[in-house]
Amino acid sequence: MTTYPPGRTAGPRAGCFAVLDPATGEAFDEAPDQHPDELDAVVARARAAWHGWRDDDAARAAALRAAADAVDTAAPDLAALLTREQGKPLAEALAEVARTAARLRYFAEPAPEPQPITDGRPVRSEVRWRSLGPVAAIVPWNFPLQLASAKLAPALAAGNTVVLKPSPFTPLATRMLASVLSGALPEDVLTVVTGREPLGARLASHPGIRHVTFTGSVATGRAVAAGAAASLARVTLELGGNDAAILLDDVDVDAIADRLFWAAFRNCGQICMAVKRVYAPARLYPRVVEALAARARGVTVGSGLDPAVRLGPVNNAPQLARVEDVTARALADGARAAAGGHRLDRPGYFHAPTVLADVPPTSAVVTGEQFGPVLPVLAYRDLDDAVDAANATGFGLGGSVWSADPDRAEPVADRLECGTAWINHHAELSLAQPFAGAKDSGVGVAGGPWGLYGNLRPFVVHRPAEV
Ligand code: NAD
Repeated sequence: MTTYPPGRTAGPRAGCFAVLDPATGEAFDEAPDQHPDELDAVVARARAAWHGWRDDDAARAAALRAAADAVDTAAPDLAALLTREQGKPLAEALAEVARTAARLRYFAEPAPEPQPITDGRPVRSEVRWRSLGPVAAIVPWNFPLQLASAKLAPALAAGNTVVLKPSPFTPLATRMLASVLSGALPEDVLTVVTGREPLGARLASHPGIRHVTFTGSVATGRAVAAGAAASLARVTLELGGNDAAILLDDVDVDAIADRLFWAAFRNCGQICMAVKRVYAPARLYPRVVEALAARARGVTVGSGLDPAVRLGPVNNAPQLARVEDVTARALADGARAAAGGHRLDRPGYFHAPTVLADVPPTSAVVTGEQFGPVLPVLAYRDLDDAVDAANATGFGLGGSVWSADPDRAEPVADRLECGTAWINHHAELSLAQPFAGAKDSGVGVAGGPWGLYGNLRPFVVHRPAEV
């Protein structure tokens, strides 16, 4: 599926940047490298389109339903392109596209009803929900379509228009998504802009933007919030995670090992809410390490287009370098690689699925976010120590507790300082639930009705009660 003209060996055309296939490390296509000055016209058109879009609730819901249907129809093409630029196995890309359509359909509902305010006083007031205006949506490269839809669907359903900027590592499936949706949405209701920095920074701080909804790293999230402060635009930030999985002493290691392994390694570990640390009771520790390491050694790694492959490449060269670095530092700190421990000696950005044992708790792979196919496993003797360790980082996205008895696990889960705590699984999200990181993992709420209200402002009409 090389889309570059055959025989073309030069780099991207002027005004474009190259898009690389992470399974080969070679450019296979290009995307427009838009100049930040273009944003003035883009945002002005988004503002003009807002006035018609916000006023017809029924037309909006119908358009979102049509958008969902269009995504389903285009699923094979969207998924193939997603795998090519992102690296994930095709089955996972198809699941991501299905989730994108499902999210558009979930939000294709009538607008919220006005809410009367009753406080016993003789007034008759009500809250009417109003849209905000043009919304900037900025997303990373790990789930380009799913995360775009998590922003688009509630923002559009609320009556806003959207300027969407994908990561320069994964611009192509998002451009195809915009083209697929163009048949369902009025012109300029959704605009995709692509380019390298400072395009995102200029979008986040653009004076015509009324809400910046961002998913990415903590460091960039801080920059986005600082940029949006200039125009006092609302910010919703979904940031990094360092989720711990705590195993209780009654856990059936063989029964949970597959689920636990894939909760850490799916999408090559590049999931904000992947399991990024495992705490196992000392008595079970050797068995837990070996169960995870055996799965890491047995998994088929390769191009996501090969149906036999379960684990693709890391998405990009800088991320592979970060994964290699934290792994090397852990080994230098005294950790032992029970599986993997190194990048794979082949073209593309492949890293061996890696399970690290005997890792010092101060090692960077434990305290920070590895965001790759590397999992540290730590032993504990006292459950309180494991809970304290789980809560000891600045992150607070998710966490999980694993036990033969969910009633034992639940009070432990309740002590985790995070946005979502799972029992006996991890990283499962319903479209209807709030998704909000604690501590450095986020600001604001996405998901379900909370995500919709995050894109609306309350407008109160206050009048005396009729007598
Ligand atoms: P990143 O922060 O480097 O980039 C995210 C997006 O911001 C990209 O589109 C990028 O081009 C853009 N960007 C870069 N600099 C910018 C700036 N100064 N102003 C505005 N935009 C800018 O993150 P990444 O490496 O693409 O993604 C990985 C990170 O995303 C991880 O930390 C991961 O945990 C996090 N993430 C969080 C969630 C969540 O829901 N909490 C989901 C997925 C990923």
